[in-house]
Amino acid sequence: MLDLALLGTGAMLPLPNRWVASALVRYRAHLVLFDCGEGTQISVRSLGWGIKAIDLILISHQHADHIAGLPGLLLTLGNSGRTEPVHVVGPPRIHEVVAGLCTVAPYLPFELRVAEWRRGDCLTLDDLRVTCAEGVHHVPCLAYRLELPRSPRFLPERARALGIPVQDWKRLQRGEGVGDVQPNDVMGPPRAGLAVGLVTDTRPGPALVDLVHGVDLLVCEGTFGADEDQGRAVERRHMTFREAAMLARDAHARQLLLTHFSPAMPRPEAFADNARTVFGNTLVGHDHLSLSLRFSDD
Ligand SMILES: [Zn+2]
Ligand SMILES: [Zn+2]
Repeated sequence: MLDLALLGTGAMLPLPNRWVASALVRYRAHLVLFDCGEGTQISVRSLGWGIKAIDLILISHQHADHIAGLPGLLLTLGNSGRTEPVHVVGPPRIHEVVAGLCTVAPYLPFELRVAEWRRGDCLTLDDLRVTCAEGVHHVPCLAYRLELPRSPRFLPERARALGIPVQDWKRLQRGEGVGDVQPNDVMGPPRAGLAVGLVTDTRPGPALVDLVHGVDLLVCEGTFGADEDQGRAVERRHMTFREAAMLARDAHARQLLLTHFSPAMPRPEAFADNARTVFGNTLVGHDHLSLSLRFSDD
């Protein structure tokens, strides 16, 4: 099971009733933060999922609305008693940008490990696998995929038929063989895991379709709701609602959650149909909207 909450849904600048776009993913005892614009730490605190467990911070790119909140968030993380290392991942030059921001937060009680990623880089946090693809924006930009694999079901009736004593079942479940019996002999067929795509500040494109293929949830920017803003979306290297919906449809995503709304769009929901005519299962995000994803056979 995996939970996701939108901490903010605004583009460019925070508004009195809307923080800038970022999201928090909760998995077991871990929190993964996606982007950290101004004020993110306040939204994290008011969400109530805690802050100390933020192990990993994924940054899409270096524009202020996605990273300017980092020093404050790290200082608050330090105040929470965190001493374990915190990982920050971002596109090329992220090291330089984080170092610059952290000159105002020089004494942190934990190690900050910053990694610059390119296509093909990945990491695994507990069982959660994180991969990326390059977006198309005015500066280097990364979109991410979080994936939780699902191990096949253990079949006790098969273990019994093969004469495996109950006390040895755990070994098979851990992937060890018992005598001539291998784990595959007592496991069911492969089962679908869970996957989430995190895409912002980019034009759509085939690399993103590949990255988020088959995700259960695609969190995607929809900077402009109106189709008439298509030209502006191209010029500013963002997406309209309709384009985000086309990405979700082309990638065979299960659900689309729109975020990163232009400050000129006070009621993004008013444009929902521009997305829903292309991809029916679209939600228009709002700050602190949260979703729980469960394995399909739970
Ligand atoms: Zn932005
Ligand atoms: Zn940007």
